[in-house]
Amino acid sequence: MISKIHPPSSTWVDVPPGSDFPLHNLPYGIFSYDGKKPRVGVAIGNHVIDMSYLFKRGFLEILFMNENVFKSRTLNRFIALGRPAWNATRKRLFELLDEKNPELRDKNEDIALILIPVQKVQMHLPLHIGNYTDFYSSREHAYNVGKMFRPDGEPLLPNWKHIPVAYHGRASSIMASGVHFHRPKGQLMPEGALTPVLKSTQQLDFEVEMAFVIGRENAHGTAISTAEAENHIFGMVVFNDWSARDIQKWEYVPLGPFLSKNFISTISPWIVTLDALEPFRCESPLKETQVLPYLHDEGEKSFDIEIQTFIKPKDSKPTLVSTTNHKYLYWSIAQQLAHHTINGCNMKIGDMCASGTISGPTPDAFGSMLELTWRGERPLILADGSKRKFIHDGDTVIMHAFAQIGSKRVGFGLCKSTVLPSI
Ligand code: MN
Repeated sequence: MISKIHPPSSTWVDVPPGSDFPLHNLPYGIFSYDGKKPRVGVAIGNHVIDMSYLFKRGFLEILFMNENVFKSRTLNRFIALGRPAWNATRKRLFELLDEKNPELRDKNEDIALILIPVQKVQMHLPLHIGNYTDFYSSREHAYNVGKMFRPDGEPLLPNWKHIPVAYHGRASSIMASGVHFHRPKGQLMPEGALTPVLKSTQQLDFEVEMAFVIGRENAHGTAISTAEAENHIFGMVVFNDWSARDIQKWEYVPLGPFLSKNFISTISPWIVTLDALEPFRCESPLKETQVLPYLHDEGEKSFDIEIQTFIKPKDSKPTLVSTTNHKYLYWSIAQQLAHHTINGCNMKIGDMCASGTISGPTPDAFGSMLELTWRGERPLILADGSKRKFIHDGDTVIMHAFAQIGSKRVGFGLCKSTVLPSI
């Protein structure tokens, strides 16, 4: 079960208003500072808690853990300890950070070692990601793409309302926020040409997605039910699934995307736990068809998380180009995972399942340039007056997701990546 551990009413750590990381959030990441090796951190306000020091100084001794869990370059070891350890850690952090508890609050020497100012910190990829799956769970996105590429047919293919459609992506090229990468080359068929050419993509695009991280394995040959699914999920990140549309168009028949997708995807640095997202639950859109029993899912299985996307040209200010929301997803994360394992496929700790591009019902909520500009027919105009059909060299794409009800807010930090010219 998702824990129902509540945070204390206030903390002695300074948390600026509007911070992505108030006491309620406590997301996990991997960070380094002062030339030290990457290690496990927990974000609070403008600081990162060095969990290995917290352990070393005896503040986490009550738990059945060892220092290596937190001195690790990935979160996999911590995640593998399972729900009892996640709950105990969250509970203990709430205790230590409680305004009323002097245990850590009054120990300045320890605080200096444990609370690292965010300006000193470099974030790293937080997981060993063995496998990555990309779903196609947004009805609006699937509809828009269908309408563009099959103008004379039904926009949604007959299977779409029965199956959370997905393909297996490539895990090795999932990168942490802050990465710079060169515009990829590939084989493509220019408009009106008879033979393909090898050149750099002219239609570089982002895809606004959220991904969940597997926190508990299922044995090979067993399935995870929709009711059990959330117990197998550790948390979520923002996921920018970079895509090259011209390469995709030429290569995707008949087996789906390949090199148009596997050159890079970027994730936000902090894994926000389902515990932190609990207050932001909401219902998924109504199903338009009866689904098979193994996909049956009731209650609030989606999350009201807003995702903003900005394009920042080199030497210019960012422009907000899309505002979408996790709650628009037709298929819930529980349905995605139940479908993924119905054949007995074994999920591993750290595996990542992305939602597919999340598009909302209105054009400002579309989650890719393909849709926002309708295949380049309606270019976007940025704050500096420049036009975009797709992403240019020098552009930084910034995604920022957060959930907010009143003053209660949980954010994911920024998911940023910058495009360099092709080499
Ligand atoms: Mn995708």
